[in-house]
Amino acid sequence: NDELFKNVIAHAKEYGFVFPSSEIYDGLSAVYDYGQLGAELKNNIKTYWWKAMVQLHENIVGIDSAIFMHPKIWKASGHVDGFNDPMIDNKDSKKRYRADQLIEDKIARYEKDGKTDKASKLQTALDDALNADDLGRLKLIIEEHDIVCPISGTKNWTEVRQFNLMFSTQMGAMADGSEEVYLRPETAQGIFVNFLNVQKTGRMKIPFGIAQIGKAFRNEVIARQFIMRMREFEQMEMQFFVRPGTELEWYKRWKETRLKWHLALKPDPAKYRYHDHVKLAHYANAAVDIEYEFPFGFKEVEGIHSRTDFDLSQHQQFSGKKMQYFDPEINQNYIPYVIETSIGLDRMFLTTLCNAYEEEDLSTAEKQDSRSVLRLHPVLAPIKAAIFPLTKKDGLPEKAREVMQLLKMDYNLIYEEKDAIGKRYRRQDAVGTPICITVDHQSLQDDTVTIRHRDTMEQERIAIHDLASFLEGIVGW
Ligand code: ATP
Repeated sequence: NDELFKNVIAHAKEYGFVFPSSEIYDGLSAVYDYGQLGAELKNNIKTYWWKAMVQLHENIVGIDSAIFMHPKIWKASGHVDGFNDPMIDNKDSKKRYRADQLIEDKIARYEKDGKTDKASKLQTALDDALNADDLGRLKLIIEEHDIVCPISGTKNWTEVRQFNLMFSTQMGAMADGSEEVYLRPETAQGIFVNFLNVQKTGRMKIPFGIAQIGKAFRNEVIARQFIMRMREFEQMEMQFFVRPGTELEWYKRWKETRLKWHLALKPDPAKYRYHDHVKLAHYANAAVDIEYEFPFGFKEVEGIHSRTDFDLSQHQQFSGKKMQYFDPEINQNYIPYVIETSIGLDRMFLTTLCNAYEEEDLSTAEKQDSRSVLRLHPVLAPIKAAIFPLTKKDGLPEKAREVMQLLKMDYNLIYEEKDAIGKRYRRQDAVGTPICITVDHQSLQDDTVTIRHRDTMEQERIAIHDLASFLEGIVGW
């Protein structure tokens, strides 16, 4: 599985999906750039989310709020005081770790060695210590379980300290601290503070939702697993405002709806599971993660949280502005309760790549053969169709260009005339292009082309004037 994950990362780089940031300067830790195909795939995932959440729900609208927000917002939300990870250093290697992750790795090791009893006891101890914010207890656990530094192999640890994950910077010319602003660590707060703006201008009636896609920044203590844990990433979040008392019903609905969204892409359903939070954040009355089985194990891709009226009440208190909604149906003013669905776009991207990547063995009795193929759902594929003239002469390129012209307004296409046709097919398989369209000599006579399907590698003949509707049937939403 380590091998598989390495191959996915290498594939993503080789074909222009994801590059390490600032690579010629040896990279910047936990920051990545999306290449020419990665940007397309990412856009398609965003569109899939936006259509499912905003376009298909008459009572959900989308916004795009700024990354910078008034510093008081992060006081109100609890991030200034509470958005911390417990950090510990090894004095020999001078390496920094997250104390809870060191312990989680140990739990995984116990499990691997079949010591399930030890593993579950340690999990409980970890949960208790985290819940009580007891840093001394975390240190004790690390000592009691002989946890060593993965680099130096020693147990020479510092005390555990809280480390705030927010990035801050100065706004304007003032550098005296009074103008300190944060890069938002989540997009949700931009929705909460605009709740009444949207409700009033959009004449929204509860229940309704506000959705947003945007960048978020977290100064993660350690970065690992490629685009799984980044310092700059993107979130797709939706806050759904409901009448108090109805929130658990809506929570259940969104929990089901969101898993369906993942499964509609036709992945292996066994790779998805819910992870209900037993211990809840102080403001939540229900929370669940949708987890995906990455090559390195089940990990959170999306969270669905019933956040009560915590955020809106906090903002009412800190801003001094009423955050109430008048509900004409029951003739009452109240602060709505909120169900949040929050998914990391980059994690969804990684999930998509892991689901799609395959080294397919095509060997026959006569010869050995294999291909790399990305079995992306056609709506997510970065390139919808590739257009190939069979050869570079006899007017075939011109004819292929005509076909391209016909379709390029509606679909992202690629034109290629270099290399043998088989090689061109394989290259498109590797980037997930569902359809290849080949123009040959017969095309000049009868205006038909050869269609070659990525998944089955089967070919069929189609009239050029049928291409648009044919393609729509395959890659259309
Ligand atoms: P984790 O426990 O993995 O750090 P979290 O519980 O802090 O995640 P949330 O605050 O619930 O995550 O954020 C919602 C979503 O944002 C997550 O489900 C995840 O997909 C994504 N996300 C959070 N932190 C990161 C990160 N550093 N890099 C990429 N995506 C992230």
